[in-house]
Amino acid sequence: MGHHVTGLPDSIDPSEDVFPPPKRVQGGHNGCPKPHIGPDYESYLKEYKKTVGPDADKWWAEQANQHLDWIRPFKTVRAGGFEYGDVQWFVEGQLNAAYNCLDRHFYAHPDKTAIIFEADESGDSREISWGELMRETCRVANVLKEWGVKKGDAVSIYLPMTWQAAAAFLACARVGAVHSAVFAGFSAESLRDRVNDCECKVLITSDEGKRGGKTIATKAIVDAALAQCPMVEHVLVLRRTGGKVNMKEGRDSWWDEECAKVPTYCPCEPMSAEDPLFILYTSGSTGKPKGVVHSTGGYLLCALITVKYVFDVHPGDKFACMADVGWITGHTYIVYGPLAQGVTTTIFESTPVYPTASRYWDFVDKWKATHLYTAPTAIRLLRRMGEEHVKHHDLSSLRVLGTVGEPINPEAWHWYNDFAGKNQCAIVDTYWMTETGSHAVAPYPGAIHTKPGSATFPCFGFDLAIIDPQTGKELEGNDVEGVLAARAPWPSLARTVFRDHKRYLETYMKPYPGYFFFGDGAARDADGYLWIKGRVDDVINVSGHRLSTAEVESALILHKGVAETAVVGSHDDITGQAVYAFVTMKPEFDLEATKEDALAKELAIQVRKVIGPFAAPKKIYLVSDLPKTRSGKIMRRILRKVVAGEGDQLGDLSSIADPSIVDEIKSKVAGK
Ligand code: AMP
Repeated sequence: MGHHVTGLPDSIDPSEDVFPPPKRVQGGHNGCPKPHIGPDYESYLKEYKKTVGPDADKWWAEQANQHLDWIRPFKTVRAGGFEYGDVQWFVEGQLNAAYNCLDRHFYAHPDKTAIIFEADESGDSREISWGELMRETCRVANVLKEWGVKKGDAVSIYLPMTWQAAAAFLACARVGAVHSAVFAGFSAESLRDRVNDCECKVLITSDEGKRGGKTIATKAIVDAALAQCPMVEHVLVLRRTGGKVNMKEGRDSWWDEECAKVPTYCPCEPMSAEDPLFILYTSGSTGKPKGVVHSTGGYLLCALITVKYVFDVHPGDKFACMADVGWITGHTYIVYGPLAQGVTTTIFESTPVYPTASRYWDFVDKWKATHLYTAPTAIRLLRRMGEEHVKHHDLSSLRVLGTVGEPINPEAWHWYNDFAGKNQCAIVDTYWMTETGSHAVAPYPGAIHTKPGSATFPCFGFDLAIIDPQTGKELEGNDVEGVLAARAPWPSLARTVFRDHKRYLETYMKPYPGYFFFGDGAARDADGYLWIKGRVDDVINVSGHRLSTAEVESALILHKGVAETAVVGSHDDITGQAVYAFVTMKPEFDLEATKEDALAKELAIQVRKVIGPFAAPKKIYLVSDLPKTRSGKIMRRILRKVVAGEGDQLGDLSSIADPSIVDEIKSKVAGK
């Protein structure tokens, strides 16, 4: 088996447990379309080779011209590189993302459904046409203009899963404003920090949110956050529930009332391909979240072409990504990718288990969805609820089942394939991250034989290497394990960390000079398939939500009695990983007066308040000290092992200052 310079084998002959592309993605079967990329590995490889290496610019120029509408054409396909983090794509080009996501499809088919809004109570669901989405977007864009928002200004968006979130994103893009959406599960304090970091004058939110039969006090959270955001002048409030909220005189206005005052058309601002489209905060190794900045041209192109090629979307498809718009998956695969491609997208307000564990399948059956994209954590939850819930639905419209957020364990993969896919859909495990903007590793459904748990092969434009972290050198050939890196930029690479380019370079470009470092471990198996092994830094992945241990530690330390804390992630059957916290209290803190359980609860509430409910530790252990080296560095490795039940395999403990603490920690964790 020969190897191309790309590191990919010329052909594959995978041995055990592989799943060939099913008939539904091979075309010609019951009216199913022929795949864009197929029918085999060789057809994928042939196309892939055009997308990386020195001659790839031609391919990218063709894709950019074929798929996007440009106001002014580009001449230079790419410039810059990793070293200085000055990557540019489609340099002289001008375009507008909202035009590409709306206007051109509106002209072609104004009455076609742009968005399926699947409401928390299924009966409240509705379809939004391109016409309605276009008008709503234009109105919001005009309101932003009335309020003085100009090209380059930041606008924060704190919206639950309502269809108008898409209009809010696109309204910003239309006037050239840079949106900064904050996941509506974040607390007031997290929202405050993100609003202050991007220094926006305008924030868009709703009165309340609905999820799983519960009402969320969205506006009240905004009010608490904005008490410490002096630069915010205007808040636009969508009426989602009609619940009673406080409206601050002079600052807060109702969405419907403002929109009624402005015209239903707003021209698109011409933007340079390299102008920022949005900022999205994500967790890194330190406590402070990073504002990852994405470009207009390169980002939009990759969002669109991955919807087309990786999900093999065709006209008339109904694409349903179940993520939240507040995360990168929602940005790329609810809003920008499907809408730019002109395909019907979905905003799903509810949860997979409301009102019953049949919710996804009721949804697919009702709308005849062709694509479902969710996270392993949801699949594991549904698997635990039993097959009964998925057995009695007509799911024959489905062709592709996607997963994202963390490595999918083979049991969950099989369940997804057997029960949701009924062995007739392609399972597409997509590995990527906020910083890549779009899929980095995934099986092209009409071409690749899948293996449960492997994201398989690189996506177009991703020239990937596995690096030995000890030597910093590439590991060539098959059967190797190291860390994942990219040899060259792709168009949807994040361009910087907002106002902290140094951190951008240090996090991604400096660890392995000449490469982009993903932060994940990866292996290439004997057949050349890629397996993602999870984060190699201090990032924990809880239900696909990225959290840094430092963030949780900084939240805990704010409690007046806490002296020191160390947070680690460990396996959890449903959420993938869970947060485990070890805490020591200040000597003057009266532990006797507060029961340990009550204190642990108080500390969990503290984390919910500072970050958000999803970050709350699964367990908080109060200990008399933390394991430290003689120089005082906390040895998280030991905590990680003890929590994982590997307390008898701690290895060399000679560097630990006080070995007796390890026994105390072991018995705490064992519940003794
Ligand atoms: P985020 O930037 O929040 O999307 O988180 C990105 C991180 O999630 C990656 O660095 C991976 O650790 C993890 N991740 C996402 N998708 C996958 C996948 N399909 N397989 C393995 N890990 C994944």
